[in-house]
Amino acid sequence: MTTSQPHSTAQSEALFARARAVTPGGVNSPVRAFRSVGGVPRFIASAQGAYLTDADGTRYLDYIGSWGPMILGHNHPAVREAVTQALAGGTSFGAPNEREVDLAELIVGLTGAERVRFVSSGTEATMSALRLARGYTGRKYIVKFRGNYHGHADGLLVEAGSGLMTNAEGELGAAAPSSAGVPEEYAGLTLVLDYNAPEALDALMAARGEEIAAVIFEPVVGNAGVLIPTPDFLAALHRVRDFGAVLIADEVMTGFRLSLSGATGLLSLDPDLRCWGKIVGGGLPVGAYGGRADIMDFVSPQGPVYQAGTLSGNPLAMAAGIATLRELKANPDLYRQLDDYATRLAAGLREAAARAGVPVSINHIGSMLTVFFQGAPDGSVRDYAAAARSDTAAFAAWFQGLLSRGVYWAPSQFESIFISAAHGEAELSATLEAAAQAFEGVES
Ligand code: PLP
Repeated sequence: MTTSQPHSTAQSEALFARARAVTPGGVNSPVRAFRSVGGVPRFIASAQGAYLTDADGTRYLDYIGSWGPMILGHNHPAVREAVTQALAGGTSFGAPNEREVDLAELIVGLTGAERVRFVSSGTEATMSALRLARGYTGRKYIVKFRGNYHGHADGLLVEAGSGLMTNAEGELGAAAPSSAGVPEEYAGLTLVLDYNAPEALDALMAARGEEIAAVIFEPVVGNAGVLIPTPDFLAALHRVRDFGAVLIADEVMTGFRLSLSGATGLLSLDPDLRCWGKIVGGGLPVGAYGGRADIMDFVSPQGPVYQAGTLSGNPLAMAAGIATLRELKANPDLYRQLDDYATRLAAGLREAAARAGVPVSINHIGSMLTVFFQGAPDGSVRDYAAAARSDTAAFAAWFQGLLSRGVYWAPSQFESIFISAAHGEAELSATLEAAAQAFEGVES
C-alpha cells in the first residue's frame, strides 16, 4: 500500500463531471470537493472497517470516518444487524417509537443530561439549542469562538472555521460573516471571541452579561484543526452562568468520541445544554440536544419554544445509534486504545517530519489529531489565529503524497482526523511508512 501509485481515477473523474452538472461544485458538502488540496475527489463505492473503496476499485486507509461518526469502523456488524432488523419493521412512522426512548435513556445514562430531544443533524441540534436558550432567558445575543464550527444555521456562520477557513484558492477566507446570504443583522447578534482567551470572555460578560442568552463552544475544537482548551478557559466558560447565560457545549464531534461521556466527561465540564450528532447516529442522520430538565422543558409541546422534525427519531437512525452506543458501553477500554494509537501516530509523524526537515506542530487528544504545517512547539497552537499560520500548500502536498500511497487523510489543514476501533497495528505502521515518504515530497 505504501508505494506511491498512479491510481486510476477515471471513474471518480467521470462521476465528478456528472455531479458538477447537477449539484453545486459536484458535492453535497464543500470540503469533499478537495478544493484546498487539489485533485479529483474520490467517489466512494463502499466502506469496511478502516478502509474505503472508491469507484475505480482503489482501497484507501480512511482517517475521516465520515467526519466522525464511524468510531467502530465502517459497516460494523452490530450496527448493520440493528439497522437491518429495524428496516424489516418499516422506515418511518411519524409517531413515537420505542427506539427513541431506548436511545434517549442510553444518552441520559451515559452523559448525565436530564432530557434529550432528537433532530436529524448537528446543525439542527445547535440551532435548536440556541433558540431554546433565547426562549429560556428572553435574551437575544449569543457568544461563540473564532474557528469553532457549529453547523450552518445563519447566526452561527460567523468566523466559523473548517471549510470556511479556506476558499477556492486555499487562501484564508474573509472574516465575519463567513457566508454570503447571512444578513448583518443576524450576524450582529453573534458576538465572537478568541478561543482560549479567558480574560476576553470575562470582560465581555462583565460588560454585557445581562444581554447574553448563551455561550456556545466546542469543548475540544475539531474545526480549526484540533485545539485543546486550557483549564483557565474552561473555568471562565463556567463563570458565564453567574450572569444567567446558558452554557452550551457543542459535542457534535466530541460526544462519545473522547469518552463515553464525551469531552464533558473527559474534561470534567458541567454545561447546561449539550448538542450531539455524528456518533449518536452511528452513521445515519441523527442530531440531539439535551441537558437540564428545567431548560429542556421549555421545548414544545412541554414549553413555548417550537422545534419539530418529520424524520426526527427515525427508527433506522435510532437503531444505528443504539447499536453504536451499546458497543461503546460494552468496550470502555476502546478509548484507551484509541488514545494509544493517536499518541504513537503523533510520535511517529513527528519523527518522520523531523527526518524530512518539515516543520510540524501536532495537536492530539483521544482519537482526534491534526498535523499543523508550521514550526510552533507542539501543543502551542491554541486558537484560530495560530492555526491559520499553517502552510496550507505544504499540507496539500503531504495530503496528496498520502493519498497516492493509499492513505486518505482529511482533505483540509483545518480538520481533525478520526481514528476508529478498526485501526490496528497494521494500519499504524502502513500510515507511518506512507507519511514518512509523503514528508520527503514536501518542500520546506
Ligand atoms: N458542531 C460541530 C462541532 C461539528 O463538527 C459539526 C459538523 O461537523 C456540526 C456542529 C454540524 O453538524 P452537521 O454537519 O451534522 O449538521
